[in-house]
Amino acid sequence: LHNSGLVADLPMLEDTGAVGVGLFRTELQFMIASRLPRLQEQVDLYSEAMRLAGDRPIVFRLLDIGGDKVVPYLRSMAEENPAMGYRSIRLGLDRPGLLRTQVRALLLAARGRPLKILVPMVTETFEFQQTKLVIRRELERLKRSGEPLPVQLELGAMVEVPSLLFELDQLLPEADFVSIGSNDLVQFLTAADRANPRVSASYDPIALPRLRAIKLVVDAARRYGVPITMCGELAGRPIEALALMSIGMTRLSMGPASIGPIKELVLNLELEPIKRSVAAAMSDGSEGVPIRGLLEDWVDRQNLPV
Ligand code: PEP
Ligand code: MG
Repeated sequence: LHNSGLVADLPMLEDTGAVGVGLFRTELQFMIASRLPRLQEQVDLYSEAMRLAGDRPIVFRLLDIGGDKVVPYLRSMAEENPAMGYRSIRLGLDRPGLLRTQVRALLLAARGRPLKILVPMVTETFEFQQTKLVIRRELERLKRSGEPLPVQLELGAMVEVPSLLFELDQLLPEADFVSIGSNDLVQFLTAADRANPRVSASYDPIALPRLRAIKLVVDAARRYGVPITMCGELAGRPIEALALMSIGMTRLSMGPASIGPIKELVLNLELEPIKRSVAAAMSDGSEGVPIRGLLEDWVDRQNLPV
C-alpha cells in the first residue's frame, strides 16, 4: 500500500503495483494552500484521488494539522510542545466546522463508491466515538437532502498515542479497521522528538519495547478480527518491515519508492523460521536479544535483498 497526500503520486500505483493507498494525508492540500480550501476544492481533490486509485482502496485520513504539519493561516497559539499540543483530531473536535466540512467533502466525493476514513491522533476511544458521530450526522444530512451517498463507509482509528495501547478492548469493537502510525507511536513511546535528529535516531524503533508495543496491537486486532495496517515510515524500511512481518503484520503502507524493494524482499523470504526466532527473542526471560541483529543474521542466512 502507498502512503500519499498528493494526487500527483497516485498514477504511480500502476508502476509500483501497490494494492491501494493505505494513507492519504489530507492535510497536504491545506499546507500548500494560502487559505482554507473550500468545500468544493476538497471534493475535487478527493474525487480525483479516488478516480486515480481506480478499483484500489484508498484510506483518507482526516486532517492531521498541527505538530510538524504547519498550516500558517490557521493561526493558533505558540505551543511549547506542538507535537503534543492542539493538533489533529483534538483540533477537529474542537473546531467542528472544519471537521464537518471535510467529512462532507469526503462523503460527496465518494458518491457511489466505498469510502474509508481514518481518524488520526486518537488518544481516547471517546474521541473516536465523537468523530464517528460527526460523520454519521453528516451522512444523515446528505441522505435527507437526497445526495448520492457512498455505497459503503468504513471508519478506522490510528493507533499512534501510547495511551490507546491500554484501551484496545474498548477501541477495537468500535473500529472497522485500525492503522498504526509508527512515526508518532515511537516518538511518544521513547519521548524522543521525531523531528529532532539529535534524539530521533537514538532509540531503535524495533527494539524489544517498541516491537512489543506494536505486537500488542497486532495481536488484539487479530482477536477482534479487525484489519490492521502499519502506515508509519517503519513499513518502508527492509529490516523494520521484516520485524513487522515477523510479528504477524501483513498489511504495510509506505512511500511509493519503497514498494519495489519491500516486494523484492517479501518474494524472496521464508518467513516462518524468522517468525519463530523473533517469537523466542520476544518471549519472557530472553531480555537483551537484539531484534535488529537477529534479523540482520536472517537476512544474511537467507541472502535477502535489503
Ligand atoms: C505516523 O505517525 O506514523 C503517521 C503515519 O502519520 P504522520 O507521519 O503523518 O504523523
Ligand atoms: Mg502521525
